[in-house]
Amino acid sequence: KVSSLEPREDHRICVCVRKRPLNQRETTMKDLDIITIPSDNVVMVHESKQKVDLTRYLENQTFCFDHAFDDTASNELVYQFTAQPLVESIFRKGMATCFAYGQTGSGKTHTMGGAFSGRDQDCSKGIYALVAQDVFLLLKTTAYEKLDLKVYGTFFEIYGGKVYDLLNWKKKLQVLEDGNQQIQVVGLQEQEVCSMEDVLNLVELGNSCRTSGQTSVNAHSSRSHAVFQIILKSGGKLHGKFSLVDLAGNERGADTAKANRKRQLEGAEINKSLLALKECIRALGQNKSHTPFRASKLTQVLRDSFIGQNSSTCMIATISPGMASCENTLNTLRYANRVK
Ligand code: ADP
Ligand code: MG
Repeated sequence: KVSSLEPREDHRICVCVRKRPLNQRETTMKDLDIITIPSDNVVMVHESKQKVDLTRYLENQTFCFDHAFDDTASNELVYQFTAQPLVESIFRKGMATCFAYGQTGSGKTHTMGGAFSGRDQDCSKGIYALVAQDVFLLLKTTAYEKLDLKVYGTFFEIYGGKVYDLLNWKKKLQVLEDGNQQIQVVGLQEQEVCSMEDVLNLVELGNSCRTSGQTSVNAHSSRSHAVFQIILKSGGKLHGKFSLVDLAGNERGADTAKANRKRQLEGAEINKSLLALKECIRALGQNKSHTPFRASKLTQVLRDSFIGQNSSTCMIATISPGMASCENTLNTLRYANRVK
């Protein structure tokens, strides 16, 4: 049903929601699917008359977005309505950005195509790969061939307000702002890439670096933002850039009280950056002259994404279908709703 809609040409901000299927664990625990997608831009949360506390009851809630994808949607379909319409803009000196936002386990990395461990997905069908594929196609078209562009990839992680290069053994990098408000991540590795395979190799390399020494993949990745960028350069100068951001999980630790100090600080930092992100995207959407990009390292590093007429952004808010995730799902939907 979704395919009947054409992607909008004019959007600078596009916010979509993607529901994943119930997983094995949820099915075993007899968790209920409380999310329906009654049309291709509506999400309903069915938690009728569930008691929240002594005084509050939750009703069914309805949210509208640019697009809503149910659990049968493929990564390709999601791509067609989110990142794909932005790809060509980077050939016209644009700054494009795609965020995956949501609770840990809701499908951010699956959507981006960054899950290389296990065999549950084909990474050549994630957003990283699909953007790369289209970039290399466009590069060879007559319109852009003459620009003589070169393509580079960067991959870094933001954890606890610090930047780590995933293409250089997690080297800690300084972020500097010059007099013209230009942001520089000093020493960030930019690797030239010539094909989609090259890009996937970089993503895989960065991922192995990201998770090395970690007890579980999700334990660490849920606490940090991963930023993969495809950069076009002409004559050594920046031409356009596509940033693909797999955000830290937005769940608030339910057990913050007993969580240790490190976890609390992590949580506070994530909260701060996701709030700053919301404000920056809203400022972009409202064409505000002031964008509070300095409010967090994430938004500072992504300054180019929020400033200027040539910036466009899409957000894929991923949600889990289960009743057990209801609070987190509602938080995700409210946040995505506010970003518009
Ligand atoms: P996150 O990055 O948000 O923490 P993941 O992308 O790692 O979540 O997804 C958690 C699990 O759910 C993974 O095993 C992933 O393959 C699976 N999954 C997520 N989204 C989907 C989907 N749309 N279809 C099928 N499986 C999915
Ligand atoms: Mg993940």
